[in-house]
Order: sequence, then C-alpha cells, then structure tokens
Amino acid sequence: MSTSAFVDVRRRSARLVGAQVVDSRSTHQPSASALPAASTPTGAQKSEAKNEHKRTEKRSNRELEEEEEEDTAPASTPKTKRRKVAATSRKSSTTQGADADDPPVNVPRKKKGKSEVEPNPVDFPVRVSSPWKVGAHVSAAGGVENSITNAALIGANAFALFLKSQRKWTGPPLKSDSIAKFKSRLETFGYSPCHILPHGSYLVNLGNPDDEKREKSYQCFLDELVRAEQLGLTLYNFHPGSTVGLTTMENSISLIAQCLNRAHKETKSVVTVIENMAGSGNVIGSSFKDLGDIIKQVEDKARVGVCLDTCHMFAAGYDIRTKQGWISMITQFDEEVGLKYLRGMHLNDSKAQLASKKDRHENIGLGHLSLRAFHHILTDERVQNIPLILETPSQENNDIWIKEVEILNRLSTLKLDEPKDAGGEGDEGGQLLDAMMEEIKEVVKKVTATNPKAAKGGGKGSSKRAVKGRKKAGEEDESELSDLTEDD
Ligand SMILES: [Zn+2]
Ligand SMILES: [Zn+2]
Repeated sequence: MSTSAFVDVRRRSARLVGAQVVDSRSTHQPSASALPAASTPTGAQKSEAKNEHKRTEKRSNRELEEEEEEDTAPASTPKTKRRKVAATSRKSSTTQGADADDPPVNVPRKKKGKSEVEPNPVDFPVRVSSPWKVGAHVSAAGGVENSITNAALIGANAFALFLKSQRKWTGPPLKSDSIAKFKSRLETFGYSPCHILPHGSYLVNLGNPDDEKREKSYQCFLDELVRAEQLGLTLYNFHPGSTVGLTTMENSISLIAQCLNRAHKETKSVVTVIENMAGSGNVIGSSFKDLGDIIKQVEDKARVGVCLDTCHMFAAGYDIRTKQGWISMITQFDEEVGLKYLRGMHLNDSKAQLASKKDRHENIGLGHLSLRAFHHILTDERVQNIPLILETPSQENNDIWIKEVEILNRLSTLKLDEPKDAGGEGDEGGQLLDAMMEEIKEVVKKVTATNPKAAKGGGKGSSKRAVKGRKKAGEEDESELSDLTEDD
C-alpha cells in the first residue's frame, strides 16, 4: 500500500465517489457497520472509515452503457449493487448453462466484436489500505490477466488463482499477450507479486511412491512453477501429497522433498509454498511436524514456505477459537516449522467440528471457527504482508466475497477483549462480532435466494456440485473455487 501505484489507485478512484457510489449496507444494518469504526480510533481505522462508505460498486458510464444484461436486482438492493462487470473482462464457461439473468459473477461476460480497452482502476471499488492483505481465490477464466480485475472487483488486496485448469495434467501454454497484460495490470492495479498466491493442481501428488505416477505429478508441478515465473510471481502454493496407502509417511515426505529439490534446480526463483492439510487418510501435512520434516530435507530453504489454511488446521485439531489457542498454535508452528516460512494463509471457516479431519470450507463467521478466530489473525502483526486468501463458497457471486473482505478488514481495526465467560453475557465485543456475522449471513442468504442452483441442491454447495467430478478423492470444498475453463 505504500507503493505509489496503490495510492494512485485510491486517489483516482475517490474522484468518482460522489456521483456513483452506493453504499450496499445502506439498506440494512447501517449501525452495525459503523460500530467498529466508532470504537477504535486508530490510524488504520480512520483510513478504513474513510473508505468504508466509498467501497462497494462503482462503474463508469462507459461500463454502464456497455452493460448488456437487465438489472434484475431485488427492490431492496441498490441499483448499482449488481453492476460490477468490468468492461474488458471475460465471461467464464464455468457459468455456462446459467440463465441470462443470473447474478453477475466473478467472471464477467464476453463482449464479442468490441474493441478491447484495458480496464481502468477508477472503475473499480476503492481498496482498503491495510498491512493485512486480504483477498480471495478468484477466477482466471478467459486468461490469467482477468484474475487481477476479478480481485479488484471484490476490493481484494491479495489474491489466489489457478495457473491452468486444476483438474488437468497439461494445459496450453500461457499466451504472451496474457502474460504481458497480467504484468501490466499488476502494476496498474497496484498488486505486489508477494501478495499473490497461485494454487497448484489438485492432481499433483509428489509423495506418490509409484515412480511413474510421481514423475507425471512432478512434470505438472514443474510446468506450473514455470508459469508462475513467466508471470513474475514469487509464490506457488501446493498440497504436499499422500502416501496413497502404499508407503510410510516418512518415505512420502522424503519423496516430496526430493521433488522440491529437483524443482528448485529446474526453475529460477519461485518459492514452493506447502499447504497444511485437514488430515484425512494418507494425506501428508495435517500436522506441523509433517511440514517441518519436509522443509528439513529441502536444500534451498529460501525456496520453500508454508501456507496455513484455517479450516484445515481446525479440522486437524489446532483450535484457534480463543486468543490463547491462536497463540499456542503459532508458537507450536514456530517450534516445529519456523515462522519465517509462513508465506500465506487461507482464511476459511469450517463446516465441520474441531479435529473432524473433514475439509469443509464455510463462509467466514458462519462455521465452527466463528469471527473471533479471524479477529486473532487480523490483529496479529506476524501475519501482516502475506496473502490472506478466502476460499469460501462464493456461489459464483461477488457479493459474498465483497462482504467477507470488508468484514475481515474491519476486524483488523477492532479492539476486543476475550469474552468474560463462556456464555458471552454482557460481552460487548461478542455483540460486535455477532452483528458482523449477521451481515455476512444476510448477504449469503440473499445470494442463495437468487441462485437457482442453490435452490435445487440446498445452499452453498452449488459450485461444489459443478466441480465435483473433477476432484481427486479426498479433496473437499477447496475446489468450490472459481476455476479455469476447459478451453483455457
Ligand atoms: Zn489448497
Ligand atoms: Zn486452502
């Protein structure tokens, strides 16, 4: 946020505010929105408050003129609420089969035959300035460069993307035009590569004892590392792998480390970031010890890091619901892995209980972790300046991530005491968190109500069903993310 580009984005965006901004919260719970700002007069908070009413959706007249779809927003939704499609962005084939009046999704629709104009940050929401870099795993459908505008549309200060279809072993090479646009948009939109955490293919298993299968995984892995470097990215997040029941954990861990050592020699600079896992079956990486054991065998320690997924750690038995729990988790991580290796986090609530070993992502505050757990994160200086990525169910509608990003940023400005008793009776902080949770719930409810897919199958699992067939066994809600299309 200290880069001139970022400041520039904010300043120029501010010019549009008076004419075009509609506060999405103006129709519900305005007082709840104002609460944290009123209670925490910090510098960051001032900036937050200043941006608070400006954020949501803004579109230039040009975009509005080009908008093809009818405004089908419910009466209670501000007019501009659903109009957040960047002029030059592309429609995803992940939305194929969707009705014409479906809500606009993260991946805007294609305007065939129109001349391409590069997206301008003034047409996007103003982003909060914060040392905690909150974002989401956005779609890269239509070209990796679209991930940047998709991130900007939800007010993200960090983001994740797939570098090719995460369910295919190979993919067409990145187009030079895409690479050029990706790099120039990074600069235009003020995103730093160290806040971008591409996610690797779900197919890859570097711990597979079968030489042939492991080699296939390795080639896919290597291909994605090269893609990351082509885009000027510095981080690459992957799942460590599994024994597939055919070898010991120790052997799989060594195989993973060997693959990393080889990959580090065959690429230039990208840091391979190992993700902690929920811990089902033969999967490696649900304990910090697994992660530490891999890193111990990595020769170039500067090329390896860790990404901590909150849902996965909770499922694996690390309880971060209390402040003390968060502190002991971080302390244990530091002892068994090393804090210096922490290069990113995935912020997901959990549909499943503590130590369930089930990887079931839930929207922030609506699962068993609750908002307090995320408050511990968003107020801990040790996780500043690393990507903090939502992988929560978005139902392919930006509104949910917009709200979650906003709430997480507000949490970082909120001072809270630990609840005085378990019931939270008379607990002012607890009430603030409850009000924020209600805001998220409200948006999820609204999106679910307008989502025809959700109506059929019961809520947030719509996109999960759409991608179900592509998942490898044991993969869960993480693949609820928007993803690349077949033709990409
Ligand atoms: Zn993951
Ligand atoms: Zn994750």
